[in-house]
Amino acid sequence: RAKQNGRNRYCFFTAEIEALAVRRMQVVSALRHALEQHQLTIHYQPQFSARDGRIIGAEALLRWHHPSLGQVSPEEFIPAAEDSGLIVPIGEWVLRHAVRQMRAWLDEGMTPFVLAVNLSTVQFRHPNLPAMVAAILAEEQLPAQYLELELTESGAMHDPPAAIAVMDQLHEHGVRMAIDDFGIAYSSLSYLKKFKVYKLKIDQSFVRDISADPEDRAIVTAIIAMARGLGLRTIAEGVETQAQLDFLREHGCDEIQGYYYSKPLTAEQFGRFVQEVEPCAA
Ligand code: C2E
Ligand code: MG
Ligand code: MG
Ligand code: MG
Repeated sequence: RAKQNGRNRYCFFTAEIEALAVRRMQVVSALRHALEQHQLTIHYQPQFSARDGRIIGAEALLRWHHPSLGQVSPEEFIPAAEDSGLIVPIGEWVLRHAVRQMRAWLDEGMTPFVLAVNLSTVQFRHPNLPAMVAAILAEEQLPAQYLELELTESGAMHDPPAAIAVMDQLHEHGVRMAIDDFGIAYSSLSYLKKFKVYKLKIDQSFVRDISADPEDRAIVTAIIAMARGLGLRTIAEGVETQAQLDFLREHGCDEIQGYYYSKPLTAEQFGRFVQEVEPCAA
């Protein structure tokens, strides 16, 4: 009997794994046509100064709507794009279009801010990355000071000496780097000081329970203090409540991103949002 149960369970897991594999294949084959069929768009989530609540940045977040699969979450399609190598052309598309949008906003007279674009570890390891970034900035005529590139902590720590070399090149081009989802991977703190990094993005998992969980409070406080000591800025992700905002502000976190202020917005919504929050000074 036990044996039979075991076999059933085995079958059950096999079927589940198979279903996941089939779904992954569907996503990858659909994703192959996403670019040419104009199914990808970029949303922009504003980032705020913790000190005075002004918008000082925005993060570009990719969105994919497929005619039959519907809206697919980046949590699902980004890993699929990474496995299949599609992240390289898709990542280049995101960078180009985000940079082009930023150029258009500056041309419209929008108060300048810094636009953050996520980089996949796969893109980051691509030898052509720094040249590609420089070429896009030149072609779209955006000064490098308006661009920030986000790399996850695990991506940066995968091969730290290689990461140092790439960050040095991006730094020479005048592009800022931020470490995304900071605190959940194993950071070698000795490497952190060698990275040409401007900002640490405190992972949302620590922010979520910040009001109730003393351990999360301790971790966040320690990250902010360490960043200070290293001369880095901090931004908290996933801030949804006034209590979270208050804690972060009191403990010296520099910037805030999260639903408390705004969800990611379409480019059009973002333009209107900026006008409402920061009425033109002139
Ligand atoms: P991430 O870079 O850490 O982006 C932050 C995620 O948190 C976004 O999810 C954003 O919508 C969400 N978020 C922001 N504020 C809040 C909040 O207050 N509460 C909650 N619960 N969530 C909040 P999204 O857009 O689904 O993206 C998920 C991940 O997909 C991103 O995490 C990033 O790793 C990846 N991703 C998105 N766009 C790109 C892209 O263009 N390139 C690459 N390589 N990765 C991307
Ligand atoms: Mg990010
Ligand atoms: Mg993040
Ligand atoms: Mg994340």
